[in-house]
Amino acid sequence: MTPSAFHTHCTFCDGKNTPEEMVLEAIKLGCGEIGFSSHSFMAHESRWGMPPDVEEKYKAEILRLKDKYSDRIKIFLGIEYDWTSDIDTTDYDYVIGAVHYVLKNGHFIPVDETADHHKNAIKELYDGDADALAEDYYKMTSQLYDKTGCDIIAHFDIITKFDERDKVYEETPRYCESALSACRSLAKKPVVFEINTGAISRGYRTTPYPAPFILDELVRLKAPLVITPDTHSKDTLIFGMKDVERALDKINCAYLTEMEQILEITRKK
Ligand SMILES: [Zn+2]
Ligand SMILES: [Zn+2]
Repeated sequence: MTPSAFHTHCTFCDGKNTPEEMVLEAIKLGCGEIGFSSHSFMAHESRWGMPPDVEEKYKAEILRLKDKYSDRIKIFLGIEYDWTSDIDTTDYDYVIGAVHYVLKNGHFIPVDETADHHKNAIKELYDGDADALAEDYYKMTSQLYDKTGCDIIAHFDIITKFDERDKVYEETPRYCESALSACRSLAKKPVVFEINTGAISRGYRTTPYPAPFILDELVRLKAPLVITPDTHSKDTLIFGMKDVERALDKINCAYLTEMEQILEITRKK
């Protein structure tokens, strides 16, 4: 399968490499397509979202590269649109919707910062009830399409990022039901779900998002899937994606590899 990478971060947000370095690496790896998905601006977060002036430069640079390398690779201009952002997506080829913060009583709880952030928030804002934080997270996740108009749902259960090393969430009946209920409501929308290897390449996990019980439900619902690297460096542009392909092939599970296939599903609105 010709590799492609649609969830990538570059120096316009929190990535290490310039978009051009990423494109050149993608060409070297034989990718047919690459999409950029820098983080949207969040009024409460100044470290990695693109403020409006940076966003304009980002768009211009990706369009420049799209043109410059048009005979060697297909380049797509995308954005990772956080639930807590409010941006205009008219100029983008595609949108990835993501929940990076759970909003609780005016607090923005980061979901992928550290296990301690989760533990403190569970203790201080949820009376020690981890399932209640998960319920809020999955409720926001279930709203991603309505909130952002996204084509792709990012890292479905990113709240479990640290669980292999430092357990925060258990697959309790309440936890599972909140995740599955978000699956079921999103599966009714014209969206594609990520199988995301980002936390593997960064050493947090040995398996991609989402957890097997969620993937099983998505497969049962015949929800369209795409494998994404969620990379922040050119060195991990297609990291772990072949392994996921092999695993999905083994269970006869189909997945999309081209942006045209994705947009065919999502832009039939
Ligand atoms: Zn993300
Ligand atoms: Zn990302």
